Amino acid sequence: MFDKILIANRGEIALRVIRACREMGIKSVAVHSTADADAMHVRMADESVCIGPPSGAQSYLSIPAIISACEITGAQAVHPGYGFLSENANFVQIIEDHGLTFIGPSAQDIRTMGDKITAKDTAQKLGIPVVPGSEGGVPTVESARKAAADMGYPVIIKATAGGGGRGMKVATSAADIDVAFSTARSEAKAAFGNDEVYMEKYLQKPRHIEVQVFGDGKGNGVHLAERDCSLQRRHQKVFEEAPGPCIPPEERARIGKICADAVGAMKYSGAGTVEFLYEDGEFYFIEMNTRLQVEHPVTEAIFGVDLVREQIRVAAGLPLSFTQEDLQINGHAIEVRINAEKLPNFAPCPGKITAYHAPGGLGVRMDSALYDGYSIPPYYDSLIGKLIVHGRDRPEALARLSRALGELIVDGIDTTVPLFHALLAEPDVQSGDYGIHWLERWLEENLGA
Ligand code: ADP
Repeated sequence: MFDKILIANRGEIALRVIRACREMGIKSVAVHSTADADAMHVRMADESVCIGPPSGAQSYLSIPAIISACEITGAQAVHPGYGFLSENANFVQIIEDHGLTFIGPSAQDIRTMGDKITAKDTAQKLGIPVVPGSEGGVPTVESARKAAADMGYPVIIKATAGGGGRGMKVATSAADIDVAFSTARSEAKAAFGNDEVYMEKYLQKPRHIEVQVFGDGKGNGVHLAERDCSLQRRHQKVFEEAPGPCIPPEERARIGKICADAVGAMKYSGAGTVEFLYEDGEFYFIEMNTRLQVEHPVTEAIFGVDLVREQIRVAAGLPLSFTQEDLQINGHAIEVRINAEKLPNFAPCPGKITAYHAPGGLGVRMDSALYDGYSIPPYYDSLIGKLIVHGRDRPEALARLSRALGELIVDGIDTTVPLFHALLAEPDVQSGDYGIHWLERWLEENLGA
């Protein structure tokens, strides 16, 4: 086992990893920008190293600075968290070239799944059902028109290098295709430096269902059921739950086994998520994320396992600490993402926290790096906390979420908490009856956003 792990991240996810390290008796090293000198992850880690100025590009994304920090502190392994360098195959390669261990899958698997065309191709070969779409990339507007006519409108044009919901455009008819194609390409170019796009049939009312998988890197794979992340704004998740309220147990077992077998066949190492759209009882693969997800705590809650501990164990060459049979679902869990944003437009709202109180009690977990007097810097993601609740069933989890949100105090800035109070009062949210477009429509009707 490692003696010391460096966490190449910040905020709540850095704390999450530090906590797992501490329970495992492993020393932790935080890295931080000059803007984060007073951040909680720096205070909580055993050691810390300043790796650059505020801009993420010059600090949390600076590979040379992170490698130097490993050398200075003697860290043997790097946990990337999510975002930043977590899905950067080049980073993994450089870590390994320096004789260090990356806590995550191989550079090769990250590369394969990072390119969405190769990912879809690989998924299909492994027996995973995919969304009908273009054969590979769509290089010209003529080929886009042809592919759309073949599969039928509406279609969605997506960036091959995509992520975070960027570079995606819907065309509802032939009249839209030229504009959708050129906008998707230019957005993709601006966001990812790669303007390659591909096309899929645009599903009208699917749910977003994702299967948590784990591989030991030696050919064994397990699944930890699914999460439903259908409540999204601009293709970004805001409310996640496990298990999926609309997935029958036999479907869960069937799709879970397909995914577990696939990661086994890939000799995949560590945590991964296979994302699907789910409509009329059918699963359609959209992508695989080769890292820990923001929403992993809902899975931890219903299975009672520590996924970060498992990632560290697998990276150290140990076997998985559970078998498929060991993994039994217990109750229902929900997570809400609390952002420093002002409604109705979700404008970022960084600033000084004048009072902070985290909710507690049975079945409540607050993952946050906030503290009284902390100043949220304006340079990074606006996620400031994740409130996770666990109950014996979905109604109990919903009641607990409402109760816990009522206890939470974050003064000094605006947050997205009022959104969740309002959503919990909605009959569709109470009954779990929504697809991926539900929230956008609700925001338009209720907030005029
Ligand atoms: P990203 O990597 O940018 O998050 P994804 O491929 O995971 O992109 O898609 C993100 C979201 O975009 C999905 O959860 C869904 O809301 C929407 N989406 C993607 N593909 C389709 C599709 N074929 N039909 C309808 N919605 C889609």
